[in-house]
Formats: sequence, structure tokens, C-alpha cells
Amino acid sequence: MEECIFCKIIKNEIKASTIFEDDRFIAFLDKSPIFKGHTLLIPKKHIETIFDFSEDYLKDLAVETKRIAEGVKKGIGCDGILLINNNIVSQSVPHFHVHIIPREKGKPLRGFMWPRTRYKNEIEEEEFKEKIEKAIEMLK
Ligand code: AMP
Repeated sequence: MEECIFCKIIKNEIKASTIFEDDRFIAFLDKSPIFKGHTLLIPKKHIETIFDFSEDYLKDLAVETKRIAEGVKKGIGCDGILLINNNIVSQSVPHFHVHIIPREKGKPLRGFMWPRTRYKNEIEEEEFKEKIEKAIEMLK
């Protein structure tokens, strides 16, 4: 069976713009962002949905989600944050992930989760990565 794409990111077999990593979680930029800075936070353990978490792990996830969301907000200076998480239905990657999406006042979602944008190039992606990475570091 083909191995989970997010497990491959955890194992560094697939490149991702990782902005935070510890022994339990990793956060990286979504490759097709709704808005630039769109980040995915995932558990390092292969847990598929919210329903598969232990309570302790889930509590840690909530704390980590808040911290990374704060990092995204401070790092790129957006007005707000949209948090979403698909479980089973509309879940294209069967490894739990929280979408942490920057929002600007007056810049509406054009349809839910669509269309996506692209980074201009790797340099722009790196700039977003670094801004959020630094802001998260400051929150420790
Ligand atoms: P969902 O549809 O809620 O399961 O979200 C899966 C997300 O994973 C989508 O927003 C994809 O753009 C994102 N994604 C898939 N593969 C990668 C990858 N290799 N690196 C970064 N993001 C990815």
C-alpha cells in the first residue's frame, strides 16, 4: 500500500516548507494555499481523524494549534485566522491535519476552500515560511 504523503513529509522523504517541528507535531505550508501562509499542523503519529486521537494527544493539539495560529497571525500580520479540519468527508489526505489559514478583512473566501493560489516562486514561499517560523519561535 502507498505510504501516507504526510508521513513521508515527517520522514523527510518529501520536501515541505516546515515552520515548526517537535517530537509530537509538525507544521508546514500547504502547497496549494487558500491564502499565502496557509499552514497545516499535523500529529507525527499517523492518526487519521479527530475520532482516532487519545484525549491527551488532542489536548496537546489544541494548545499547539493556538500557538501556530498565533505564529501565522503575527508572522505575516494578517487580521484573523480560519481554522478548519476535514474528517473523512472532503478529507483528501488521510492523516489528521488542521488548516490554519490567514484571513484579511475585506478579502472574502471565494467559495469554501477554493480557488487556491500559488507562491510566485520558492523565494516567496521561503519568505512566508521564515516569517511564521520566527514568530512561532518567539512564542515559546
Ligand atoms: P484536506 O483536503 O482537508 O484533506 O486537505 C489536504 C491539504 O493537504 C490540501 O490543502 C493540500 O493542498 C495539502 N497537501 C497535499 N499534499 C501536500 C504536500 N505534499 N505538501 C503540502 N501540502 C500538501
